[in-house]
Amino acid sequence: MANKIIEGLWDCPYCGQKGISGLTKSCPNCAHPQDEGTKFYLGNEKKAVDAGKAKDYGKGADWTCAFCGSLNRYHNANCANCGAERADSSGDYFENRKKEAAGQQPPPPPPAPKKRKLWPILLGIVLIIALIVLIARPKAKDVSVSDKTWTRSIAVEEYVTLRESDWSVPQGGRLVNSHQEIRSYEQVLDHYATEAYEVGEEVLDGYDTYTDYEDNGDGTFTEVTWQEPRYRTEYHTEYREVPVYRQEPVYDTMYDYEIERWVHARDEIARGAAFAASDSTLRNLEVAEPYWPETRLGGNEREEGRSEEYILYFTDKKKGNTYSARVSQALWEQYSKGAGVELKVQGSRVLEIDGVSIS
Ligand SMILES: [Zn+2]
Ligand SMILES: [Zn+2]
Repeated sequence: MANKIIEGLWDCPYCGQKGISGLTKSCPNCAHPQDEGTKFYLGNEKKAVDAGKAKDYGKGADWTCAFCGSLNRYHNANCANCGAERADSSGDYFENRKKEAAGQQPPPPPPAPKKRKLWPILLGIVLIIALIVLIARPKAKDVSVSDKTWTRSIAVEEYVTLRESDWSVPQGGRLVNSHQEIRSYEQVLDHYATEAYEVGEEVLDGYDTYTDYEDNGDGTFTEVTWQEPRYRTEYHTEYREVPVYRQEPVYDTMYDYEIERWVHARDEIARGAAFAASDSTLRNLEVAEPYWPETRLGGNEREEGRSEEYILYFTDKKKGNTYSARVSQALWEQYSKGAGVELKVQGSRVLEIDGVSIS
């Protein structure tokens, strides 16, 4: 498409006349020439320049006379206003526009938002942490030994015949019965089903026409027109075959068998105190040195394992607080009734007894 030359307009800065044709170099009202401040603009009408004149436009921007500041056509060797030679001038219309743009100050940046003060929050956090440390830190307590208890137990197991089922008979098992059972499931292709799905395709829908106007800097604008293709998406249905599976059970032989195994049967427990108990809940304990309980094993029984537990009880006479700790037998043996002890405790938990840590 051929580009058209459109007549631009300008306003006289001297007398205020508006909408003067860009092809007129001087104001028809006051004769003031176009100058450095003259800016060409498009009118609503967008009048095309006659073909005869148009070929002389869009060839070069007007130059600015360095002496009187008026604008002159690109092919004029002398200023139409004052007669100065073009060779003595270097500026043109577009440079005037650049200078104008550079003269406009950018807006000042917005003031930075005030930062919220953080230190009161940090101080609060530090105080809370300090308080937690103060409450949780271990404390020393002067107490005396009020009770000592011991517990010893022996686990007993017996050899019995059990009925079990499994996919195989283990060593020592005697087969009783077998039957088929579902062990797992298998995916089996059953059939194919037809499935519809949509397919989108970009199709040329037509062309859109765009127009732009370029300032020639000589009182005219060049109308540039171009076209761009426009597409639309068209959908159509296509079909495909998809496999459909079913779950099929897989059978295997399940064996029922009898087998002898050791099974936990009972615990024999002996419990006692080192001296007459002061605490009411321990009062019915036997007063005796630690001993292992009798097991009286039957013909199909044996010992499974042994365990023992030694506990020291302490009383803080001033405050009435009581503490207890599970300790080794050796440590347990060291203390007699009423002995003074220094504990390190955290809450109700005993951490150390006379400097010995309890784990
Ligand atoms: Zn004027
Ligand atoms: Zn001049």
